[in-house]
Amino acid sequence: MTDDCLFCRLYRDGDHVAAADGFVAIRDINPQADTHLLVLPERHVASFHGIGAFSADEAKRMLEFVADVAAREGLKDYRVVVNAGAGAGQTVFHLHWHVLSGGLGRMA
Ligand code: AMP
Ligand code: ZN
Repeated sequence: MTDDCLFCRLYRDGDHVAAADGFVAIRDINPQADTHLLVLPERHVASFHGIGAFSADEAKRMLEFVADVAAREGLKDYRVVVNAGAGAGQTVFHLHWHVLSGGLGRMA
């Protein structure tokens, strides 16, 4: 945990939509879809480039939590996005998964 990291602070003190052992979901403050959630791991890893810091079990549980959060929100169709690096749009350097649903344009 680092106090100067926004998502470390929100992991600890934020308004959580859902929580599991080592992961929470919050609502994005600037939604880019009808529903826009962020899944944050407790462990501070700056970006997806460092995904190897998670054990295989943690990585699996993190992705299962992403799917659980979407299901609990009642989302049938949704998009899961990670911006890896500033050039891809990453602005908060604590790994997080965007879960977006409703009003999405075609991406690729
Ligand atoms: P990224 O640009 O991929 O690093 O995503 C960071 C996301 O965090 C953006 O979509 C922001 O809107 C969102 N965000 C920034 N500050 C907050 C906050 N205090 N609470 C919730 N979401 C935030
Ligand atoms: Zn952090």
